[in-house]
Amino acid sequence: MQGNRSVDTRPELAVRSAAYALGLRYRVRVRPVPALRCTPDMVFTGARVAVFVDGCFWHGCPSHYKTPSTNTQYWAKKIEGNRVRDRKTDGSLSAAGWTVIRIWEHEPPRLAAQQIAATVRAAAMRVLAR
Ligand SMILES: [Zn+2]
Repeated sequence: MQGNRSVDTRPELAVRSAAYALGLRYRVRVRPVPALRCTPDMVFTGARVAVFVDGCFWHGCPSHYKTPSTNTQYWAKKIEGNRVRDRKTDGSLSAAGWTVIRIWEHEPPRLAAQQIAATVRAAAMRVLAR
């Protein structure tokens, strides 16, 4: 296991290609808000939508996360820290006018992509209405 935001892990790629297949076009490895140290897995610049595909372990998925039986305290603290940081990131992005979507890696990519498409569509309307 390496960093908790390793680039191009498989669940991210699966969601990206499902989204691409639906006709969605997005950017990767860009910071939506330059001052914020966060690079979502997909960024829809026009609609201002940021998508994160969260690993069930690293982000503490309610259905799949189980604290490892060794170094229990370390992991519990680590994962809780990640969760807190995720919420903070979401808050900063939405304060900057962005819509944040978080997809669990266990979610079927095609359903995730449909959810992203619907959200991007709605968000683009809101941006246009401004
Ligand atoms: Zn999960």
